Amino acid sequence: MIEVQHLTKIFSDGTRALDDVSLSIPDGQFVCIIGLSGAGKSTFMRCLNRLNDPSAGQILIEGQDIAFAQGRELRRLRRRIGFVFQQFNLVERLSAYENVLSGRLGYYGRIPGVLGLYSAADKQLALQALHRVGLEEKTHTVASNLSGGQKQRVAIARALVQQPKVMLADEPTASIDPKLSGVIMDLLKSFTRDGITVIVNIHVLELARDYAERILGFNKGKLIFDGPPSALSPAEVERIYAGSVADL
Ligand code: ADP
Repeated sequence: MIEVQHLTKIFSDGTRALDDVSLSIPDGQFVCIIGLSGAGKSTFMRCLNRLNDPSAGQILIEGQDIAFAQGRELRRLRRRIGFVFQQFNLVERLSAYENVLSGRLGYYGRIPGVLGLYSAADKQLALQALHRVGLEEKTHTVASNLSGGQKQRVAIARALVQQPKVMLADEPTASIDPKLSGVIMDLLKSFTRDGITVIVNIHVLELARDYAERILGFNKGKLIFDGPPSALSPAEVERIYAGSVADL
């Protein structure tokens, strides 16, 4: 369970990217976030794993507040939150397997550095994750030789070996062939069957409608829609997408 209370983020230049956002998300829900560019979607996701520091509010994950956690406690909370980036963020010269294994780094006090220092159990987890995303035949291929869709699946496998409670994906389909968007969304959604909460920031409204159990609509830093796709009427869509990018 994720509980967000009065989350506010004001950047140092005064931009109010998130304005008093409150909501709770039960385990295993598949949530899509929509809104105009600049609405605060990425900032919301980035606060959930502390890539951004909130200005105020609470973020309870399994009852523990990550909003202002520091040091060891922050590392411990963060390793149960997988993050999938639009641009994959793989180490291009490393193999798919090595990239996936690096998802276990948060469980080590120091960086294993070379492959040999990862435990046998971690290596097994990495192979299982590659299998889960359908890339076992690419295990030893260097990331630079993978297609965009394959890179994103490696990145998802890397998030999966963290054994996350929560998986956050920030525009995971934006840098890949649109024909493959469904493959990535299906894969992300499949993790909810294991009780993982999956939150996807998605700019394609149709994908949100087709896949989400619940849609969050942001406008100018405020959460202005929170409901199932069936409640997303044309009037609600207009309200969420109201205002031009230049206004924000
Ligand atoms: P979205 O993901 O919906 O496109 P963002 O969360 O990226 O929106 O941005 C929300 C607002 O915060 C925008 O006005 C954006 O310009 C601003 N913003 C994002 N990151 C920073 C930053 N590091 N410093 C200042 N303003 C930022």
